[in-house]
Amino acid sequence: MIEVAKQVMALYSQIDQQTRAFQAETQLHCPTGCGRCCENPHVEATLLEMVPLAVELFRQGEAVKWLESADESNETNACLFYEPDPRTPGNGRCQVYPWRPSICRLFGYATVSDRDGQPRFAACMRHKADIPEVVVTIQEAIAQGLPAPSFATSQQIAHLAPQLGAERMPINQALSAALRWVGLNFQMKQTELDSN
Ligand code: SF4
Repeated sequence: MIEVAKQVMALYSQIDQQTRAFQAETQLHCPTGCGRCCENPHVEATLLEMVPLAVELFRQGEAVKWLESADESNETNACLFYEPDPRTPGNGRCQVYPWRPSICRLFGYATVSDRDGQPRFAACMRHKADIPEVVVTIQEAIAQGLPAPSFATSQQIAHLAPQLGAERMPINQALSAALRWVGLNFQMKQTELDSN
């Protein structure tokens, strides 16, 4: 279990490197403090993508607290880890930034494949509204071969453990599933140790 968590984090580091290189090349950055993507109740992740965070929450002794919150939430709730800024609507912060899942690392900086298999820049709505000309220039550069992070990386993560990584679900639901899976694994490990 710890091994698969490390493998997922290794792919997250790869995504972060690609995103930093893309930001350096395009000078595209999120507006300071913007949390609009986190306010979206349709943020999805897989159980596998939430395993590194679940392991960390157990390490911090906070697993039960977050499991209860996740089980009380429903599809209309935004991510539990999003902390809105009470002074500035649309601004906020992530309470678990180092362990956030792939969609949170890729959103606003990655491509999807169009029906011809060509990369299309999946810009965020705020960038499209605030700097449309920059978005068009970036799309043209990507069409000319500019390397960009891809949402296809989520498939690479899923391949690490297909039984845990295939199903995308609302992020709070994925958290609940990951906390249960990690908890069960810790329990089985302890039982094994006790029986030796
Ligand atoms: S995990 Fe963090 S970055 Fe991702 S949706 Fe939640 S608050 Fe936002």
